[in-house]
Amino acid sequence: MSIKVYINGEFVPKEEAKISVFDHGYLYGDGVFEGIRAYNGRVFRLKEHIDRLYDGVKSIMINLSETKEEMKEIILQTLRENNLKDAYIRVVISRGTGDLGLDPRKCPRPTVVVIADKITLYPQEMYENGLKVITATTRRNIPEGVNPQMKSLNYLNNIMAKMEANQAGVLEAIMLNNENYVAECTGDNIFIVKNGKLITPPTYAGILIGITRNAVIELAENMGIPVLEKNFTRHELFTADECFLTGTAAEVIPVVNVDGRLIADGKPGVITKKLIAAFGELVQKEGEPIYK
Ligand code: PMP
Repeated sequence: MSIKVYINGEFVPKEEAKISVFDHGYLYGDGVFEGIRAYNGRVFRLKEHIDRLYDGVKSIMINLSETKEEMKEIILQTLRENNLKDAYIRVVISRGTGDLGLDPRKCPRPTVVVIADKITLYPQEMYENGLKVITATTRRNIPEGVNPQMKSLNYLNNIMAKMEANQAGVLEAIMLNNENYVAECTGDNIFIVKNGKLITPPTYAGILIGITRNAVIELAENMGIPVLEKNFTRHELFTADECFLTGTAAEVIPVVNVDGRLIADGKPGVITKKLIAAFGELVQKEGEPIYK
């Protein structure tokens, strides 16, 4: 059976889920989105995702008529319409249909789309053995431009970096910021472990403040592992004891090789494995119930 997609107040079969070619999300990348996940009948950190989405909506001044509470219901209803308990949810809010000019005032009504489906980012085997990654030459957006804290529809830099990974025959690329510090990957945040401490780039490194990142920080702190949010260089990454990535789609995945250098002995580290296990437990027990 075809999945049903929410578009502006209606649920339509996937094949009929279409928006105008004059939509400014399509013409100009004028919009924001979210990627959310449901596990075992519960939506993980739904409030945090909706808050981040609405922060983006506010920042780019889209006049959304739906309240946060209504958006929550739309997301839950999309899961119910599709009888899903485990899913990846994509919410896209664009400026809406306008004319060929870029003036947002020509778009009277935002377009709201919610899709609930499945996603696999990396093969299962990589969760056990770890990923190989490269550093891309394409930089992360500067915060003074389209701030990476916003999940905007402008992912071209990240796609350029992903293409560099593809060219190099690996699945993921690390993006640096304009100061040459490690920022994040194309769709994931990055952590290293050094001398028993967890280190991840700070907000002002120009990153998306990942909801998985925040969950992993909490888990580490609960385990008594010190967490530092600070800048680090590629050298510190090459010489780290452990490395892993976090994201809604990726969850927590080890990195064992960066630009041809093995991370420690080239096997997923002890702290990484503990956090993978703890995160797996957390998502099963926490979250907004879909079916009440
Ligand atoms: N950075 C970027 C660029 C992303 O696209 C994502 C995934 N949405 C993340 C980090 C991870 O964020 P989250 O844990 O909230 O999915």
